[in-house]
Amino acid sequence: MLINAEPLCRFVTEIFLSAGAAQAAAKETADHLVLANLKGHDSHGVGMVPTYVGNIGRGNLDPSAHMAVRRDTGAVVLADGCFGFGQVVGREAADLAIARARETGLVCVGLRNAHHLGRIGTYAERCAEAGLVSVHFVNVVGHDPLVSPWGSRERRLQTNPFCVAVPRDGDSPIVLDMATSAIAMGKVRVAYMSGKAVPDGALLDHDGMPTTDPRTMFEAPRGALGPFGTYKGYGLALMCELLGGGLAGEWTMQPGHERIGTVVNNMLMFVLDPRAFGGHEAFQREVLAMVDYVKGAAPRNGFDRVRIPGEPEREAMAKRSAEGIPIDDNSWQAVLEAARQAGMGEDAIRTGVGNRDG
Ligand code: NAD
Repeated sequence: MLINAEPLCRFVTEIFLSAGAAQAAAKETADHLVLANLKGHDSHGVGMVPTYVGNIGRGNLDPSAHMAVRRDTGAVVLADGCFGFGQVVGREAADLAIARARETGLVCVGLRNAHHLGRIGTYAERCAEAGLVSVHFVNVVGHDPLVSPWGSRERRLQTNPFCVAVPRDGDSPIVLDMATSAIAMGKVRVAYMSGKAVPDGALLDHDGMPTTDPRTMFEAPRGALGPFGTYKGYGLALMCELLGGGLAGEWTMQPGHERIGTVVNNMLMFVLDPRAFGGHEAFQREVLAMVDYVKGAAPRNGFDRVRIPGEPEREAMAKRSAEGIPIDDNSWQAVLEAARQAGMGEDAIRTGVGNRDG
């Protein structure tokens, strides 16, 4: 099934409104999720709506919460997401960081207790649009671990995303935005929902043997998601845990914390202004020349050309904006069920669904 972005945003906004969110928070969260779909990351798109609605119902997500500053020493700020929509408190933390980095040249903002922040690239892109560089270490807590440390078949970590964005004059920023697991857990969920295999090398079964069957993550006996890039990816995942979780959140995956089945992100974010270094122009000269140099490299077998981080998302967005967003039937049924759970009547659901192509 293909759905156009605009009616999908409206429908998801209606679901969050029915679940008790205010208009601005409902729309911001819906827009963020649909943008993730447009950028090709269905793992972090509207397929998350059932989780969000469920967490509102269970009292794990406060749809009216905003970011609160707990400590501010100028270049270091500790903020609390107060279990609000990650999309709202994450944007508020990014805006605070942008304003402060313009004054100080560099700011480190720790955001704790954010409900799922979604696509971390969204916050990095906001900083880059303001001409700033940003680096984000994020951990994920509140439910059981999913990812094995390198060398084990047991789950100890989460998919802990890491993100860096660099602004670029006259073009989109360069955005490296990735899970530190071999693939994002949401991609395993999408494969499971659509009955497809996941790529080789991402999953281990219960016995520690490689498998491409996503059921190993959802059905007993359960296996684990592996880290990307063997011990290097595992090392980066651990640093996300220690910096995003340990330093900013004081909440890591270690078993001293309760796991109640919610999704909380803690993020340590560095935002810096290139003008505090050799200046905007000198930096951009190197950025543009280096990107040209890299992209000019001859493609190897099986590749059409070299891309830079963030480019696949722009390509997906151009295609999906024109053709619509593909959603598998199981994921869509789960969104409709979430709409009912949020309290939307069948007529409102039919109207929302009926308008999906318009
Ligand atoms: P991915 O593997 O699709 O892409 C990772 C990065 O590699 C992106 O920056 C992409 O632009 C780049 N890339 C991909 N193909 C490329 C190519 N051919 N050449 C150059 N660069 C290329 O992404 P992922 O690891 O599946 O993560 C998906 C999303 O999930 C991210 O937005 C991440 O923030 C999000 N995420 C969020 C959480 C959370 O708890 N909130 C957890 C995990 C992941």
